[in-house]
Amino acid sequence: MTEKTEINVLGCGSSFGVPLSHDIWGNCDKSNPKNQRTRPSILLKKAGKSILIDTSPDLRKQLIDNKIDNIDSVIYTHSHADHIHGINDLRAISLINKKKIPIYSDEITLNILKNSFSYLFTKDVKHGYEPILNSNKIETKFFEINGFKVEAIKQNHGNIDSLGFIFDEKIAYNLDVKFFYDKNYFDRIKGIECWFVGCLRYDEHPSHASYQEVIDWTQLVNANQTFLSHMTAHIDYETEYKKLSNNRVYPAYDGLKITI
Ligand SMILES: [Zn+2]
Ligand SMILES: [Zn+2]
Repeated sequence: MTEKTEINVLGCGSSFGVPLSHDIWGNCDKSNPKNQRTRPSILLKKAGKSILIDTSPDLRKQLIDNKIDNIDSVIYTHSHADHIHGINDLRAISLINKKKIPIYSDEITLNILKNSFSYLFTKDVKHGYEPILNSNKIETKFFEINGFKVEAIKQNHGNIDSLGFIFDEKIAYNLDVKFFYDKNYFDRIKGIECWFVGCLRYDEHPSHASYQEVIDWTQLVNANQTFLSHMTAHIDYETEYKKLSNNRVYPAYDGLKITI
């Protein structure tokens, strides 16, 4: 019997979250709690071992809300602030569990993390911080973390590239993406059990695919379940649910849990 994977969406908002910091809700119905979105992060757990994807600036709140007190590894998609700035909250997880946490990403992202948050990687005598992270460069397309078989997908994100991931051939995660370099990518994940895809807003954006492009992609992939994530306040939960759920495409929401 293959082991089940628990997926816990910790945050499905874009870089400003919903509502924005000045209480702007855009098209979102503020009475629906599913429209309250923290910055993007997700946790996968299998056989008692977990992988966190990205450390959102809201990580502390996400860990509390989802009752998470241990993380076995972290994998980063890219170095934009909405995906990394909660990295300091890993200190609590490290200290509570008395262990260093391995993090994984490409060389560019790891270098930015090590330069920006050096005290987490090397002993900071002046401030008395002990290092809590081990960095691991992703060097091959296929690799393994905590029993998960992982495939890294290089994707265009405007001026930079970001990483998407396929886990155990059944979960694909492609959040900050303008287009895929692999022209066969939609065939690669066609019919996959669960696809998380970034769906920022209706308008064009220089580093994210537009709503209509993403919806077209979902039809090509035809996943068993597709969840839209990285959504701005343009995207109202109920409006999209009514439009898309007949095709097994759903807006994600913070706290969503799926077992597959
Ligand atoms: Zn980004
Ligand atoms: Zn982002």
